[in-house]
Amino acid sequence: MAATEFQVRTKKKIARIDVTKQVEKAARELGAKSGALLVSVPHTTAAVTVGETWDEDVVTDVERALAAWVPDVRFDHGEGNSPAHFLSEAIGISCVVPLEEGKPLLGRWQGIVLIELDGPRERTVRVHAIAAG
Ligand code: ZN
Repeated sequence: MAATEFQVRTKKKIARIDVTKQVEKAARELGAKSGALLVSVPHTTAAVTVGETWDEDVVTDVERALAAWVPDVRFDHGEGNSPAHFLSEAIGISCVVPLEEGKPLLGRWQGIVLIELDGPRERTVRVHAIAAG
């Protein structure tokens, strides 16, 4: 198996959710020991990246900063969620983390974060093993 996925139920319009534990579980399911993990979301109003997950204040700080990051331009898209589309494209829908001894290799303060930009919704996070062994 080279890929697996898990679901996350988000609870707010903009939410930054630590999914490191779920990605670690996915890595165990994949059985890959070394190489890299490609973590992605198949959504146009969500994003995934690596960020600071030690201090809970960073969660709300980044959530506020994301809401304020949307530029003051005209949005024509009828769904009304172009700010979420913009943020998703700006942050990106995937990230790659090194994999060592079956676990994502992250710094002490780092974690993998799913960023909800148009919630609440049910989100899918996909994890692909780019295995070297
Ligand atoms: Zn839309």
